[in-house]
Amino acid sequence: MEQSNSFLQNYGVKRLNIFLTHSHHDHIDGITFLLNHFQCQLYVSALEWSIWSHKPDLVEQNVTKFKHAQVLKFDDVRLKCLLTPGHTQGSSCFMVNDRYLLSGDTLFIEGCGLCGDYPQSDGEMFTSLQQIKTLADDL
Ligand SMILES: [Zn+2]
Repeated sequence: MEQSNSFLQNYGVKRLNIFLTHSHHDHIDGITFLLNHFQCQLYVSALEWSIWSHKPDLVEQNVTKFKHAQVLKFDDVRLKCLLTPGHTQGSSCFMVNDRYLLSGDTLFIEGCGLCGDYPQSDGEMFTSLQQIKTLADDL
């Protein structure tokens, strides 16, 4: 771990945080490596955490489970966590400084992500997209 952390220091990285929009494999593969090699904090919605079936073996203090509309602050970066179910039940997006939206697999340039394989995922996706539409036009 010490060697890995000095690697980060060489690049001026003070802290490594993982902001997880949902727990599909293409988003979580590699998390165990990062958690094992770097001192990092994982941020995930409380709902996604509760349904994540094969989560890495984590110390609870290394996981921050956020709720809808919770704001996280890191120096001059303000992250607003938006619960946007539909792709998964606990999917979320992150608003960065009220200027940028990290939308995970909820929204792409050409359309929305796939609806999940659970009941009412299509209705939840629709509601989530309506929520995103209320955000600033100049994101
Ligand atoms: Zn996905």
